[in-house]
Amino acid sequence: MDCLFCKIAGGQINAAFVHQDERLLAFKDINPQAPLHVLIVPRRHIATLNDLGPADDALVGSMFRRAAAIAAEHGYAERGYRTVFNCQRDAGQTVFHIHLHLLAGRGLRWPPG
Ligand code: 5GP
Ligand code: ZN
Repeated sequence: MDCLFCKIAGGQINAAFVHQDERLLAFKDINPQAPLHVLIVPRRHIATLNDLGPADDALVGSMFRRAAAIAAEHGYAERGYRTVFNCQRDAGQTVFHIHLHLLAGRGLRWPPG
């Protein structure tokens, strides 16, 4: 399958990993939008949030818990951070393999652009 994040999961494309386990990867975004910008990605290919089923509830929960752990490891637990899933075109999704953005290290505006 011609999927960038499947290729990173398979080791065909390099990434700056901050975490790997049997279900999840986490690596630095190549075009960071904050001092800390990490993508939390399931190893299994799921194209968009629209493709999640009830059996994926634990997987998605583990993505958020991993984001919180990585934020804490980098010292942002108290100061704060943002987690974002972009879904489809209007939200700006460009890689169609779900990923949770973790952004930290600067004041983040609301509402987002
Ligand atoms: P989306 O726009 O789909 O929510 O987010 C995709 C993210 O993947 C973008 O923030 C983009 O910078 C990042 N990205 C695209 N290509 C690569 C790559 O080859 N390596 C890494 N580490 N991140 C990438
Ligand atoms: Zn994929």
